[in-house]
Amino acid sequence: MRVAIVTGAARGIGAAIARRLAADGIAVGVVDLDEQGSARTAKEIIEDGGRAIPLGADVADEKAAGTAVQRTAAELGPVTVLINSAGIIRDNLIFKMSASDWDSVIDVHLRGAFLMARAAQTHMTQAQWGRIVNISSTSALGNRGQANYATAKAGLIGFTKTLALELGKFGVTANAIAPGFIETEMTQASAARQGIDFEDWKLAAAGDIPVGRIGQPEDVAAVASFLCREEAGYVSGQVIYVNGGAKA
Ligand code: NAP
Repeated sequence: MRVAIVTGAARGIGAAIARRLAADGIAVGVVDLDEQGSARTAKEIIEDGGRAIPLGADVADEKAAGTAVQRTAAELGPVTVLINSAGIIRDNLIFKMSASDWDSVIDVHLRGAFLMARAAQTHMTQAQWGRIVNISSTSALGNRGQANYATAKAGLIGFTKTLALELGKFGVTANAIAPGFIETEMTQASAARQGIDFEDWKLAAAGDIPVGRIGQPEDVAAVASFLCREEAGYVSGQVIYVNGGAKA
């Protein structure tokens, strides 16, 4: 049985990916800052007949990231699949953005993905097989009020392409998924901060999306599932947009 770690898996996109990989027959280390949420996702997976362990960890903390990988390996087996989905937003226009809001966003998305990938690649290179999927965003192309987040998400693309170059010879692929508008607590919080009604926002957004609807976490999970399969071994260093065909 293959073993994955999914970060940010207490809820939203990470939780959907964790459930999907478990349904695909992969044992999952469910990592999140929110330990109770991790336990909830792991319980759901186990109740559905899968294998999972919950792990509370801040992915931006070097020791915690290393421990999460070590504990997953000790309890489930070598970690050969890594999904970096943990994320936060601290939106503001540049003139109002604090240095700490910049640092926190860069730390969780970039430092977190780096620390987790560095720890997990040891198992992957030893196994001569691995799959890394980093969750970027269409915001990587630039998004008003998100200088910190857009920078982190663009950085993740460079990181992904470099992992693909360095680790390909060990049978490890690295890809990024760039979702557009996905209905999660993150987008709900974004609406609340802007004083917009979430239902109105979803309707308006759907009108601009060619497939006529906003995305669900399962839309992202389906692509992650494909990228982690055996037959996806020739797909590496790519950015796959999951945005209903919207023009970026
Ligand atoms: P979400 O519902 O807010 O879930 C994010 C999860 O990450 C939360 O459970 C959060 O825990 C956890 N997390 C935050 N900081 C962490 C840390 N330092 N260590 C470990 N876990 C941490 O967000 P989502 O919408 O599912 O987003 C998942 C990923 O997709 C993010 O990387 C996001 O940037 C990306 N994305 C989302 C969308 C969208 O439309 N939703 C679009 C493009 C990309 P806490 O609750 O404790 O903070």
